[in-house]
Amino acid sequence: MYLEDNFKNNIMQWFNQNQRSMPWRETTNPYYIWLSEVMLQQTQVKTVIDYYDRFIQRFPTIADLSEAHEDEVLKYWEGLGYYSRARNFHHAIKEVQHDYQGIVPSDPEHFKSLKGVGPYTQAAVMSIAFDHPLPTVDGNVFRVWSRLNNDSRDIKLQSTRKAYEQELLPYVQEEAGTFNQSMMELGALICTPKNPLCMFCPVQENCEAYDKGTVLDLPVKTKTVKKKTIEQSVFLIRNSRGEYLLEKRQERLLNGMWEFPMFETAHAIDQISKQLNHQIEPLSEPIFKLKHQFTHLIWHIKVYSVPEELEIESVSLPDHMIWFDLEQRDQFTFPVPMAKIYQFIEG
Ligand code: SF4
Repeated sequence: MYLEDNFKNNIMQWFNQNQRSMPWRETTNPYYIWLSEVMLQQTQVKTVIDYYDRFIQRFPTIADLSEAHEDEVLKYWEGLGYYSRARNFHHAIKEVQHDYQGIVPSDPEHFKSLKGVGPYTQAAVMSIAFDHPLPTVDGNVFRVWSRLNNDSRDIKLQSTRKAYEQELLPYVQEEAGTFNQSMMELGALICTPKNPLCMFCPVQENCEAYDKGTVLDLPVKTKTVKKKTIEQSVFLIRNSRGEYLLEKRQERLLNGMWEFPMFETAHAIDQISKQLNHQIEPLSEPIFKLKHQFTHLIWHIKVYSVPEELEIESVSLPDHMIWFDLEQRDQFTFPVPMAKIYQFIEG
């Protein structure tokens, strides 16, 4: 599949005139471009902008970020979700600092060997920062390219991704960064999933799906499997100073973040009582319920209050638990459901 020469000119000209203003488009610093690509995974542009600005204000250089403690990095990511992105990025930046003298490697293979860098991030950063001829294939590009070619191959298949990368190669031999961003921006602004603005599309004359009237049938994507649901119980346990018990999550989803003690509902009471070596008796009805969705699972959380105030001296806390004064909120990174519970307590 090879579209006419005017296709590339048209889409890039449109991009140059219509692209949205974003802070990472004002820079050629590969560290900032890389950060923006990591933050933008699974997250909308308007959400990312504030986080990006705050992050580079606090960690303006690779050296600054490589020296930071992980807890602080997570704090600056709090609310963005998908925290393994932050941990991997932090880890990769330390590798850059130590193995590449603090300079983001411009060799695509070296860059790809860094922690958390997959094919999309490699292509995006290498093309935008260094104009390497690598095509980016994300959800927007899948949609635009499948429609332009009236292509009904399943975009969930790895073989389709590989085929798209091959087909896009001729277009990224020059000005790869601008071409890749043009495709993604067209997908975000014009060639949208439900109501594409074909009348305003700069490449309508190149579009086979538009010609054949199949635009809304594309791209073809097999259904995702149903998300697993987990019932969770959270306990609000206070001491006689009015402080709340917090636990640091370890070696599981949201690793390293803080939470009010939470357990999968079956046997939850036994587990927290055992950890504290003290029988916990919460009220029988939850005081608050919430639902939180991840990509692959859903938590249904019931929050229980424990009326007894524990005497500090009578309970010896394990290493991963502490007493938390509500005023200390800024010092702790909470995942989104815990931040909501905190807000509920704060009233
Ligand atoms: Fe997408 Fe419509 Fe443009 Fe085709 S004509 S690329 S379907 S916006």
